[in-house]
Amino acid sequence: MVALFASLGEPRYRAEQVMKWIHHRHETDFAAMTDLGKPLRAKLEAACVVQPPKVLFDKPSADGTHKWLLGMDGGNAIETVFIPDKGRGTLCVSSQVGCALACTFCSTGAQGFNRNLSVAEIVGQVWVAAKHLGNVPHRQRKLTNVVMMGMGEPLLNFENVVPAMSVMCDDLGFGLANKRVTLSTSGLVPMIDRLSEASDVSLAVSLHAPTDELRTQLMPINRKYPIAELLAACLRYAQRKQRTSITFEYTLMRGVNDSPVQARALAKLMRGFNAKLQRENAAKVNLIPFNPFPGTGYTRPADEDIRAFQTLLLRDHVLTTVRRTRGDDIDAACGQLKGRVLDRTRRQERQRRKHESAIPQQSTGEVDAAA
Ligand code: SAH
Ligand code: SF4
Repeated sequence: MVALFASLGEPRYRAEQVMKWIHHRHETDFAAMTDLGKPLRAKLEAACVVQPPKVLFDKPSADGTHKWLLGMDGGNAIETVFIPDKGRGTLCVSSQVGCALACTFCSTGAQGFNRNLSVAEIVGQVWVAAKHLGNVPHRQRKLTNVVMMGMGEPLLNFENVVPAMSVMCDDLGFGLANKRVTLSTSGLVPMIDRLSEASDVSLAVSLHAPTDELRTQLMPINRKYPIAELLAACLRYAQRKQRTSITFEYTLMRGVNDSPVQARALAKLMRGFNAKLQRENAAKVNLIPFNPFPGTGYTRPADEDIRAFQTLLLRDHVLTTVRRTRGDDIDAACGQLKGRVLDRTRRQERQRRKHESAIPQQSTGEVDAAA
């Protein structure tokens, strides 16, 4: 923005004024930015446009969760979800249209991949939610946290995600503390190292299995970056950020990764991580009960099995929380974001064929979130 204003022959403070108009007051019309002076307003109108994403629909849930479907170019659409909870408000932001990584338990993964989102399209999601909520940084803050846990793998869109997170944290943007912005990754080892040089945000890593054999079945990326290498990269990240802990996400699927043996194996990995860092609770485990979506073969374990899994970890002194599932009446829970992906990978087509040949008499039963 400073560079843009310099190119218009304007001083830095003008860039700061416009940042505040856009991100604090949610104003998109230069004519309404009254403290800029008429000539500058006319210059801006001629040279620039403030263009938030188009809201195709927004849907409130009975539990206060709110989901937006935002229209992108050429018929694509992405989803963003706001989750209020006891004095905090978390926005779950998408980084890509679809995802190329094809984890077997994820609705976005089943959609295939179209493209990366731009910085504007990532920041725009926060803008839409902040405007809807009447959020004002430092005064009326309803949006307190951002998690990059929507559609896509954020570290495969590093060039756009890192600057977008900077706008989220900047006082002239949304003013969030670094630790309140969390990037969740499926575990791209070299990119975790790059992130630690470029940003101070919190890191969450999708683990989902205590052994390479099972993790590779669930997450094909594990073939390239197996668990030991992934944990070593997490260790380097935590070492660089002296105070930070790493959150390990573990989606619990019945009969797949929820047994007591697997809980003990996970606890052992986490204890090893804490020991290497010589810090209790350096690793936090967040158990996510599996959220079903049309066409999936996985199911969620019973509540008592989830609690038993958590108890085994806690007994081994591993800090473990269970994520409360929110917004499942509007398909807004983790892993359910579907949007509308014009798939370039042909995964949708392959899956449809597989499904149709398995059940020749029936339709696929796919539910389009946009319908
Ligand atoms: N691509 C990134 C971030 C987006 S997914 C990543 O994989 O970490 C956000 C979280 O939701 C990840 O931990 C992911 O594994 C989890 N998730 C995906 N599908 C899910 C489902 N159906 N039920 C519960 N959690 C799911
Ligand atoms: Fe992509 Fe994350 Fe879904 Fe895996 S879990 S397919 S990395 S969005």
